[in-house]
Amino acid sequence: TTFADLGLADWAVETCKELGMRRPTPVQAHCIPKILEGRDVLGLAQTGSGKTAAFALPILQRLAEEPYGVLALVMTPTRELAFQLAEQFKALGSCLHLRCEVVVGGMDMLNQAKGLMNRPHVVIATPGRIKVLLEEDPDIPQVFSRTKFLVLDEADRVLDAGFEEELRVVFQCLPKNRQTLLFSATMTSDLQTLLELSANKAYFYEA
Ligand code: AMP
Repeated sequence: TTFADLGLADWAVETCKELGMRRPTPVQAHCIPKILEGRDVLGLAQTGSGKTAAFALPILQRLAEEPYGVLALVMTPTRELAFQLAEQFKALGSCLHLRCEVVVGGMDMLNQAKGLMNRPHVVIATPGRIKVLLEEDPDIPQVFSRTKFLVLDEADRVLDAGFEEELRVVFQCLPKNRQTLLFSATMTSDLQTLLELSANKAYFYEA
């Protein structure tokens, strides 16, 4: 299998090549076509499996077609992971002039609010900080009113860390017809529950 076989556009295939990604990893080969089809996906995959590109590439391809408003909200459990995700998005989206905003604790919240008001293409957030912004700034929820993708990266940890209330606030602000992409190292009952809520019959990938 090649990246082109998965339904990715020429620019994306070319970017992968430039980044030294010669062939899709298994999680990429299985999940990218399903995400491009519009399916929800639950992928059980470890760090190092290439899972980030598995969701970033189809999101970026959608962005190339429809570059308006916040397209994707990516939630991840820690600041470090948030910045790593942003780096990968920027590398993969370099030729799209991708605007990516990282919203995590311990950094200036006013700047983050301003950044969100500029309608970045992709928002990468930890649950605690995005909740505070959504609740305390009345202008922020509508920034997400047309978001097409919700990604939970390291979803088992996002769901596990007592982030229930944070997730409830986030879920309320997103359109119901979004695509939900869950990537996790382990299967948990919370993930099972989320999967069952999927409106479009989620595709389940396990290595
Ligand atoms: P991840 O599992 O998303 O944390 O990715 C682990 C690392 O693998 C990242 O540094 C990627 O740049 C790299 N990577 C992702 N996909 C591929 C691929 N198809 N071929 C080679 N390296 C890749």
